[in-house]
Amino acid sequence: MTAELQHTLAKSAGFSGTSLHTGEKVTLKLQPAPIDHGIKFKRKDLADEPTIDANIANLKTVERATTIGEGAVRVHTVEHVLSALSAMGVDNAIIEMDANEPPIGDGSAAPYVEVIKKAGTAAQEAPRRFFDVREPIHVESKSGSLLVLLPDEKFRVSCTQAGPNNRFTQFFSGEISPALYEREIAPARTFVFYEEVASLMEKNLIKGGSLENAIVVRGDAVLSKEPLRFAGEFARHKILDIIGDLALIGTLIRGHVIAVKPGHAANAELARAIVKQHAKVTALSVPRTFPPGEGGLDINQVMEILPHRFPFLMVDRILGFEGETKCTGMKTVTVNEPFFAGHFPGHPVMPGVLQVEAMAQVASILLMKLAKSASRIGYFMSADEVKFRKPVFPGDTLFIHAELIKARSNRLAKAHCSCVVNDAVVSEGDLMFTFLDK
Ligand SMILES: [Zn+2]
Repeated sequence: MTAELQHTLAKSAGFSGTSLHTGEKVTLKLQPAPIDHGIKFKRKDLADEPTIDANIANLKTVERATTIGEGAVRVHTVEHVLSALSAMGVDNAIIEMDANEPPIGDGSAAPYVEVIKKAGTAAQEAPRRFFDVREPIHVESKSGSLLVLLPDEKFRVSCTQAGPNNRFTQFFSGEISPALYEREIAPARTFVFYEEVASLMEKNLIKGGSLENAIVVRGDAVLSKEPLRFAGEFARHKILDIIGDLALIGTLIRGHVIAVKPGHAANAELARAIVKQHAKVTALSVPRTFPPGEGGLDINQVMEILPHRFPFLMVDRILGFEGETKCTGMKTVTVNEPFFAGHFPGHPVMPGVLQVEAMAQVASILLMKLAKSASRIGYFMSADEVKFRKPVFPGDTLFIHAELIKARSNRLAKAHCSCVVNDAVVSEGDLMFTFLDK
């Protein structure tokens, strides 16, 4: 696995047009931004040119379009430009605008893809961030939207779209690569069912709306300046919107979104659920909080480094490191350990495999301290030459030693480990680890 790199725009580029809701002229410009900046909007028309993070925490409304804001500042209809940036592989950018809404263009994301291609993209020296779906997430809305996110190695979206009374039911599914997005998704235009917007039109709330930037369906008639671009144009546009709304989580997704009659409200709810699961997962991953030097780690520091928890945390404390290759940990074995109840009743002995687990945990702490990149994680692969020499009883203090004996390439590492009680080796073995990019 090679780490994908973050990308920004190679230079700035933009275009002008009409904003959908106010009908005013607006100029939008995409600007490069540094590593880990993410996507931010900048209101050039306001004093001090405030910026707004394209983040789900800033979501304000989801009525017909997605609006974000901070304080009193708003940006409306963010989903099409965010969709294009996300699908075309731009991680970091500033979206400058001189109004509160991007230009609607032809109602699709094609103008944004064109601007991104005009600017070009440039790789940056930091790994791209992903949300890897670990367990299915699903959200449902009262209006009949259903979204399910399943684990997948790639980012896929499958969508079934149906209008009122199931008119114009369509399906589209694809793995979202820049090439597929540009060809099959970006050109799909905004569409409305007449009965859903009639009241907005009467209230004059979509001043910039016209048959040049939206398809209007009235009964079975499709009204638009240009004929349908695809038989399934509506389902494709829904996918465009899903990608744009989910871009608000701030990372790319490796997972499969399955959507039935999606809308901005349900998309936003899924984005929130993703952020929640993401927070749960990163709480268990490895922050690099090693203190400098060879000093030890207390139980809190050990738990910040190791994802293991009771009853599988087999290290109470790291006593210290010796140079770059040695580490010693300890565990007090008490009669309250859950395994003693069954191993064995009336004759409690610590299982050998748990001593191997203790060795693996201490060795992986050593390897994490050594690892040069925070984006890599060591996996316990195999154990050789394991010997159990003496039984371990309740009340024993286990000293767990790990010494790195071989680091073949930067992919494999071998550590000789032993558990010691009262100065006698009770178990030992050679443990092999491999490194993978997170
Ligand atoms: Zn849309």
